This record gives sequence, structure tokens and C-alpha cells, in this order.
Amino acid sequence: MNPGKRSRQLYERARRVTPGGVNSPVRAFGSVAGQPFFTASGEGSRLRDVDGVEYIDYVLSWGPLILGHADPRVNEAVEAAVRKGTHYGTPTPEEVELAEKVVALVPSIEMVRFVNSGTEATMSAVRVARAVTGRDLLLKFDGCYHGHGDSFLAKAGSGLATLGLPTSPGVPEGITQLTLTVPFNDRAAVEEMLNRHGDQLAAVIVEPVVGNSGLIAPEPGFLESLREGTRRVGALLIFDEVMTGFRVALGGAQERYGVDPDLTTLGKVIGGGFPVGAYGGKTEIMSRVAPQGDVYQAGTLSGNPVAMAAGLAQLEVLEREDPYARLEQRAVRLVDGIIEAARDHGVPATGTAVGSMWGVYFCEGPIRNFEDALQVDRELFSAYHGECLAAGVFFAPSPFEAGFLSTAHSEADIDETLEVVEKSLAKVTGMG
Ligand code: PMP
Repeated sequence: MNPGKRSRQLYERARRVTPGGVNSPVRAFGSVAGQPFFTASGEGSRLRDVDGVEYIDYVLSWGPLILGHADPRVNEAVEAAVRKGTHYGTPTPEEVELAEKVVALVPSIEMVRFVNSGTEATMSAVRVARAVTGRDLLLKFDGCYHGHGDSFLAKAGSGLATLGLPTSPGVPEGITQLTLTVPFNDRAAVEEMLNRHGDQLAAVIVEPVVGNSGLIAPEPGFLESLREGTRRVGALLIFDEVMTGFRVALGGAQERYGVDPDLTTLGKVIGGGFPVGAYGGKTEIMSRVAPQGDVYQAGTLSGNPVAMAAGLAQLEVLEREDPYARLEQRAVRLVDGIIEAARDHGVPATGTAVGSMWGVYFCEGPIRNFEDALQVDRELFSAYHGECLAAGVFFAPSPFEAGFLSTAHSEADIDETLEVVEKSLAKVTGMG
């Protein structure tokens, strides 16, 4: 679907001055062969575009907005912070308060460092892991995204023993050769890598619930096996909770699954819609970070007081209101409703929700890893996405992105969405 005139004009202008017209590739709607709409404003569960069209939003800034758009409690905190100044380059009380909150809420974190994005958080955590272990190799999982740092832009080669090859020009092979990749939920593949490369392995990094291949939950025992295996070979376990942090539970996936990583990376929800990331872990490990230790990492705008105020306000609401059970219940209702509608129209479908993250695949299940996810009917998804958007429902413009839900999404929003889903599927399957 192509958006209204104003969006189209802006896109044309944008493409002249910005690569692909966007500041982050997924925003360009490339995988659904459409054009993006340009947003004018958001409120609660809804977005309004520059042509005045309204959408129920399941992208939610790709995860951060767990209270929905323009939550008044977050906005008030931001306005109060801005009135005092925007950044000072000195420590501020807000950084201490948010750090104390993170340490109190995330089980494995005893010390935390704030940065400005998820990418910075994962890059820094890996640097610390390499410094602490004195080793260079990194193990990641196919289909897990950890930001655009060089080390993470590696995909699996032809076999389990294949070392990483860069998926982007500009990334030296010498760097991605240090990145091993295996399928998610595959304990045997991990075991083989640990047996073969364990003594050179600095860390295993994992999205404990994968939100970058659609949505894939860990099988029982999988995360525990990573904990046990990394301990055995003397490597660190890094949970990349940029998406899952404060989303699948207040204490993140590590609280939900009861697994204790050495390092954790955070982003999205922690910034309340502002550019914030963080990495943290045991005091013994984080003490290596400068200026306490010798591992260099810095940032002019890190710990920005306006961003800290937004994050703190959002986390305080989550702590006070504990919306997690209600969010998951709604997410499950949405997923079940979409799957049922698809099957009613003869489309195979499977999916799941974990907390307020959810995903539906138009193919037979089960989906255990990225390879399985690749079976989705992309053409059907693309047509379905366009129909839903035209009817006022904004799903992520790719079958490989997780959906999100906010506390602002009401039962009525879910009802309305399921009606749109039903009609869209009827249309694209030719039964409408
Ligand atoms: N890790 C995970 C799990 C992510 O989902 C993302 C972004 N979607 C990142 C890291 C990178 O975060 P950012 O885009 O803020 O750099």
C-alpha cells in the first residue's frame, strides 16, 4: 500500500538527502514492497500520519513504548527535565537514580553503564568479555540481531564449523572470522562449538527470546544449557535484553526464565522513547570498565538527563502498575485470533507471545530457529501487511520482526485489529 500525498512527497524529498530516505533501513518498508508513511504524532495505541490517517500501532517505535505514545507521566518527567537544561557533561542525580533502579530490577546486574543505543551496549559488552577472558572468539545465533557492530554482522556459513562471513561490505573478514554462528535452540550445535573452540571463546551472546526473526521462544532448558556450557569452558554469557528487558517481565528474560547471565545489554524500554542503551553485570566484571578499570568505553551524551528522566518515569510506572500479566493475556488473544483467522482462510499459521512481544508466521510450525522462520509465505505477508495498513492497523513491515503491545492497547483495540485482520486475509486469499 502506498500512503497519502504528503507522505509520498516527504519520501521523495528524503530520498534525495538521506540514503533510502530513512535513518534506519527497516523503516523503508523494503520487505513489503511499499512506501513508508511519515508520522505527525502519536497518542496511546495510535499513530497519526502527516495525511491525517490513523493507525493502531504494533511497532511502538520498535519496542521502547511499552506505555504507548505520549504517555503523560513520561512526558511530564521529560518536560520537567528539559526546563532545567538538556545536557551538562557532568554527572547528574538522574543517572544514579536510573542505575539504582536497573540494579534493583534486573536480577544479574550489580553495576551498569549507560550508553546511547543497543548497538553501543552490545559492542561494549563484548569488549568487556574479551578483556575479562583474554580471548577473542564470540558465539552468536543465526537470526539474532545485536545491532550493527562489525562483530555481529556475521551469518552462518555452510556447516557448523564454518566461521563467520561478513553480511555487509565494509566489515573486515578478519573481524567476523572471530564470530561463530549456530542455530538458536540447537543444544547439540552449541555443544559442538564449545568442544571445538571453547578454550578460545570469550562469550556467547544471545537474545534470550529472539525478536529479530519474528518471535522465537527458547525451548525449556536451552538458556540453562548456555549457562552451564559457558561456565564449563570459562566464557561469559551475555543476554542481549535490548528487546526483552522490562518487556517479557519487569526483570527481563533472565527473571522470567531464572537464568543468571554474566553480562546483560539493555535498550528500548529503558529510555522511554529516548536514545538510551545500557550494559551491566557482576561488579567483578563491570569494575574492568574505565575509569574504574582498563577497558575503555565513553560517550559525550551518555546518561543524558532528559533521557534518564524518561526512562525512570516509564520504569516507575511499570513497577507500580505491574501490567505484565494483562499485557501477555492481550498479546496471546491477538496471536490466537490472527492464527485462527489465517486458518479459517486456508493459510497455515503459527505463532506465540512472550510478555508483550508477539509474532505470527504464515507457515506450518513449529518455529525453533531462523531457518524455520524462512519458510514463511513472504508474498502473502506482504499483501496482508498492505491490506491491514490500508485499514488502519500498523504491523511491523517484515515477517521477521516481533510485534509489540503497550498498556495503552485496549481490548477494543484488539477487537478492531482482529476484524481488520479477518477482512485483510479474506481479501488476499481471494475469499473476500
Ligand atoms: N540488540 C537487539 C536484541 C535488538 O533488537 C536491537 C535493535 N532492534 C539492538 C541490539 C540494537 O539496538 P539499536 O538499534 O538501539 O542500536
